[in-house]
Amino acid sequence: MKYTVRYAHLESMSHLKVGDSLKFGDFIGIMGTSGQSKFNHLHIDLIYGFVRKIIRLREIGILKRYKPCKTQLDYFKDEDLFKFKLVITTQYMCKEYKKIYGKNHPAYDLVPKDRHRSKDHFKIYFNRKKVKNVEILFVGFDQIGYGFCVLIGYETL
Ligand SMILES: [Zn+2]
Repeated sequence: MKYTVRYAHLESMSHLKVGDSLKFGDFIGIMGTSGQSKFNHLHIDLIYGFVRKIIRLREIGILKRYKPCKTQLDYFKDEDLFKFKLVITTQYMCKEYKKIYGKNHPAYDLVPKDRHRSKDHFKIYFNRKKVKNVEILFVGFDQIGYGFCVLIGYETL
């Protein structure tokens, strides 16, 4: 099965190039607050299939064009992501988020646990091992939403 994972609100343009491949432990970019974001955090979401452009959260849903996969997304939520303990600041399908922004949040907002004390663990790494055909699908900037972001495609074994 093919999936696309998106890393959003990075501090700057990622050094990764579309078409490049990636492996476990490779550096993706630095957590930031670019685009529509009020504080440093990593927004990460995941859908079925390969997508090579910016899509909106409103387009992601079980009955929408782009289908989310929480099971796969959950694998990214571990300590290899920042190489440090992490904290979830906005949960998957957070009810409070929906109240405030009027849309669903099929995503996690994550930060390293020591974010207020130092920026030492703001670096984001690719943390999947048992996957194949990992490919950079999109690297760009989205002013009205995700800021500097990276889309990575992969297939499960
Ligand atoms: Zn988010």
